[in-house]
Amino acid sequence: MKIAESLLRCCSGVGSNCADFLFPPTCCYCDQSLTLALNQSLSERQIITQPQLCNSCSSKLPTITNNHCLKCGATQGPHILAKEGCLHCKNSQFVFSDAISLHLYDGDFRKMCRFCKQDSGQRLAWYLAHQLWESEQNRLKSWSCDAVVHVPMFWTRRLVRRVHPAESIASCLALKLNIPFWHRALKQIRRVPHQAKLAPFERRKNVLDIYQATRFHHFKDKNILLIDDILTTGTTASECAKVLKKAGAKQVHVAVLARGIGR
Ligand SMILES: [Zn+2]
Ligand SMILES: [Zn+2]
Repeated sequence: MKIAESLLRCCSGVGSNCADFLFPPTCCYCDQSLTLALNQSLSERQIITQPQLCNSCSSKLPTITNNHCLKCGATQGPHILAKEGCLHCKNSQFVFSDAISLHLYDGDFRKMCRFCKQDSGQRLAWYLAHQLWESEQNRLKSWSCDAVVHVPMFWTRRLVRRVHPAESIASCLALKLNIPFWHRALKQIRRVPHQAKLAPFERRKNVLDIYQATRFHHFKDKNILLIDDILTTGTTASECAKVLKKAGAKQVHVAVLARGIGR
């Protein structure tokens, strides 16, 4: 049903009106109906056919700022500019050049990021990816990336989980940047325990040599935008960046929805 709804909403004009009639637009987080006033202009109606949050869920979204650590993407205080790293990353060595995030992995935003991993969470992942673009498009453009890739998921896990937030975010940002989305650029070659269940010192060992670059794309001298949903210690993104650089990539930049700190 969601697929039929999305297809119908992709159509403009009459198709859009039919979609509103058959599938009234709902909040992409709580699924509550979004009321459409009859006198709304066409442009407003077109906007509402994109994933949206209701007012209540929108108020749960933290205030987005552009003040982030340029190295790890952690949100900073208003008067701090950390070009060489912040409190959360000053002792970390990353293989990727720099990172951006929408917000810290905390409170209601943490719940939203977790919801993105559920079957019904794909629309919210698209919505948050759009917010990331709105907030950080200047920096994303400044990286002059040639292609977008995402942190992969082991194939058995991918079969069970119908959604993969990193994939949704990557496809959205590739569209916005008008560059290719290299969907199968990386693969995970063995199943390992989930990083979130491990202590920080165990994470590096857990992901060591589990990723491979596929032969579908040419990475030589390319600037790559690597996408994940959450960046915590940075070990997963670093391991993917290592593989991409080994395959010839010139630079790897990272974009995530949330920057997890504290563990
Ligand atoms: Zn809602
Ligand atoms: Zn930092």
